[in-house]
Amino acid sequence: MSLVVQKFGGTSVGDPERLRAVADHVARTRRRGDQVVVVVSAMGKETDELIRLAEQTSSTLPGREMDMLLSAGERKAMALLCMALHDLGVPADSFTGSQAGIITDTFHTRARILEVKGDRLRECLAAGKVPVVAGFQGVSTGNDITTLGRGGSDTTAVALAAALGADACEKYSDVPGVFTADPRVVPDAKRLAQVSFEEMLEIAATGSGVVAFRAVEFARNHGVPIHVRSSFSWEPGTWVREEDPSMEQPIISAVTHDTSEAKVTVVRVPDKPGIAARLFRSLADENVNLDMIVQNVSQDGTTDISFTVPKADLEVAVGVCRSHAAEISAADVLTDDAIAKVSVVGAGMKTHPGVSAEMFETLADRGINIEMISTSPIRITCVVRAEQVEEAVQALHQTFRLGD
Ligand code: ASP
Ligand code: MG
Repeated sequence: MSLVVQKFGGTSVGDPERLRAVADHVARTRRRGDQVVVVVSAMGKETDELIRLAEQTSSTLPGREMDMLLSAGERKAMALLCMALHDLGVPADSFTGSQAGIITDTFHTRARILEVKGDRLRECLAAGKVPVVAGFQGVSTGNDITTLGRGGSDTTAVALAAALGADACEKYSDVPGVFTADPRVVPDAKRLAQVSFEEMLEIAATGSGVVAFRAVEFARNHGVPIHVRSSFSWEPGTWVREEDPSMEQPIISAVTHDTSEAKVTVVRVPDKPGIAARLFRSLADENVNLDMIVQNVSQDGTTDISFTVPKADLEVAVGVCRSHAAEISAADVLTDDAIAKVSVVGAGMKTHPGVSAEMFETLADRGINIEMISTSPIRITCVVRAEQVEEAVQALHQTFRLGD
């Protein structure tokens, strides 16, 4: 008998019919002889709707009350799912994040999990019942309800799997796995049978929303295998787990892309110690989420510094740069929101030289200009014009033969 945590996303619990289908899925898993802990997201687009409601009501959006409001979405889903399970004769009890003993820090709307107690879930399992837990929420060390940031139900599921010693965390959604590229852009993209935690972290960080980045981080740190699969079938999906050292790693596993960022360039700042420190300290103090940072070779003692940020942070980032322009003697601050990132990710690139050359040649052959480059040991990312990014993804998918 194994213990699995099954996490169902918003579309999987989107309406009463879907909720009954999820209940049926859980009932079948139990009949197979496994113990199940269920984690649910809010139904459909409920979290977006709650945020909209708050924005229509308030201009200050106090964090404590936002969390109280947003946590209601998952509460609704868990109670309804338990009802559907009862109808099938499956004993099940719902638990809020707080009842499940998910203890977080005190940062409202983006709290981090500090500890998972899980006592009530263990008791529930021992009594032969299915605990159904509200994702995305916890209770702070100050005893207030908190939420974990958008997409946080994945983190809840992985954290529970780690705390309860589950054999796996199954993530069900309308996406049947992790693909070699976004199938909407590359029709012959293939589902990957397996990816390593390290690759999945890079894939999640560079554009694929299939598993939330923090959940993958948590899974890697605690060695929890994640099975990403479709809630509409029993087909196997993608296993995200420790890399198997006895197997040769694929040079490239996936091509990802991201159109959600914009570029800021601080023009002609003096090339001397302290300039970048001052600028980036101020950006950090404003909680701007920086991604790529590039500083050019200096000419005549000045240099340009460019970085990318989520479009949502652009206004704040530009404000910070403009307010420092005089102090750091910058000539200008430019922005560009028509950029996109395209990345190739693969653990095998560590031992295979020449991947960057192949990537750059592929883009050059298509007349696609590279504006910025950044790398990690298992990833190469290029910033290109947004209008060319789909062509770039298709071309790279072909170059690295990911559709074969
Ligand atoms: N309902 C939350 C959101 O939409 C959490 C989640 O679905 O993971 O962000
Ligand atoms: Mg959601």
